[in-house]
Amino acid sequence: MESFFHSVKLNKELCVGCTNCVKRCPTGAIRVRDGKAFITKELCIDCGECISICPHHAKSAVVDSRDSARRFRYTIALPAPSLYAQFNNLRDQLPVLRGLYGLGFDEVYEVAKGAEMVSSLTDQYLREGKLTLPAISCACPVVVRLIRTRFPNLINHILPILPPVEVAARLAKRDFCAKMGCTPEEVGTVFLSPCPAKSTACRDPLGFDKSAVDLVVSIKDVYPTLLAAMKRPDLPEYGELCGKMGLGWGISGGEAASLTHENYLAADGIENIIRVLEDLEDEHITGVDFVELNACPGGCVGGILTVENPFMARAKMQRMQKNLAVTGYQPRGVEERLLLFDHPIQFCEVLSLDQDLATAMELLNRIDEVESRLFGMDCGACGAPSCRAMATDIVMGRASEDMCIYKLREGLAQQTDKEEVLV
Ligand code: SF4
Ligand code: SF4
Repeated sequence: MESFFHSVKLNKELCVGCTNCVKRCPTGAIRVRDGKAFITKELCIDCGECISICPHHAKSAVVDSRDSARRFRYTIALPAPSLYAQFNNLRDQLPVLRGLYGLGFDEVYEVAKGAEMVSSLTDQYLREGKLTLPAISCACPVVVRLIRTRFPNLINHILPILPPVEVAARLAKRDFCAKMGCTPEEVGTVFLSPCPAKSTACRDPLGFDKSAVDLVVSIKDVYPTLLAAMKRPDLPEYGELCGKMGLGWGISGGEAASLTHENYLAADGIENIIRVLEDLEDEHITGVDFVELNACPGGCVGGILTVENPFMARAKMQRMQKNLAVTGYQPRGVEERLLLFDHPIQFCEVLSLDQDLATAMELLNRIDEVESRLFGMDCGACGAPSCRAMATDIVMGRASEDMCIYKLREGLAQQTDKEEVLV
């Protein structure tokens, strides 16, 4: 039985049924009925588009509060590379990492280091011919969920290597327990995240059974206190810094650029990545070994839980990268299996009309027929994103034709004509 945890939630009280989110949702997961939006959980991929478009703040991200870390004896901060790009005038990430100690974290482990390990293993697998080409990065959870529900032919192309945050959480916990002589249960790993989809990926992982990330806190939440903590004069020193390749993962194209392979493609923004996936499925894109896709515009720096303008954040990140070395972080004693998926991701059939092919065909014909009676305006006033989606809802018994305002108007006009003839 599939579970569908979501980190995007709707507050019905605040929803006024304006349908702005209906038209923006890339998977057609939202409808407005009886003046309120609702989300079909099987279709939602937690992209967060509806959070940014809703003018009434009726949609929000489900993340953890910093206070929830109190239940652990020790805590480890896992800063996403995009966190560094939120601050002005940084030469490197050191002030941020030291500031995190100032916030009370017992340890800080850069997710960028996990990223460099993933890059190195990806390179190795590409060299050894172990991947189905083109391999598609699994770092963006929205992309993985999109492929899982909509692109069955691409499911085997998903890179079977854990995303950087998972690698970082596993290693950080393992090393900290060895250093302190404590149990993993006493240690809480806290990911400082740029987007809600990472929260979904940690609570409901795909490709592995249990996440080593215990809490996901938004960058927005931590930013003001971290900014203040960074100014403290008594902060502890930080050890080895991750280099420019790991940091680059925070911006679109950074993961692909960290590979020695040059045959890659990188795209960002939800509409662009859907187009790339469609073209890959239709084999219109060929001759590419690696595909990096980020749902947020500009990459993780464009996540909705960040504070800085994504273009500024990108510029800051690139400036910082110029001051950093190429490290290719590779700690000793890390077995390859620690970086790999536990099992392959399975395709999840959420769009089929019926399990039985003949019935599905019959339904498809009826949808065509109903759609031909609608007006093709795709106005969204009925609460569905398009006339096609509305026709599907009608045939599947979830809506009726009189919910179309043009049909309603047509019916009223016919009624008036009849009355005039009678008079
Ligand atoms: S954008 Fe969606 S959630 Fe927000 S008020 Fe309009 S219909 Fe409701
Ligand atoms: S998070 Fe994305 S996929 Fe989910 S309902 Fe909102 S816009 Fe649609």
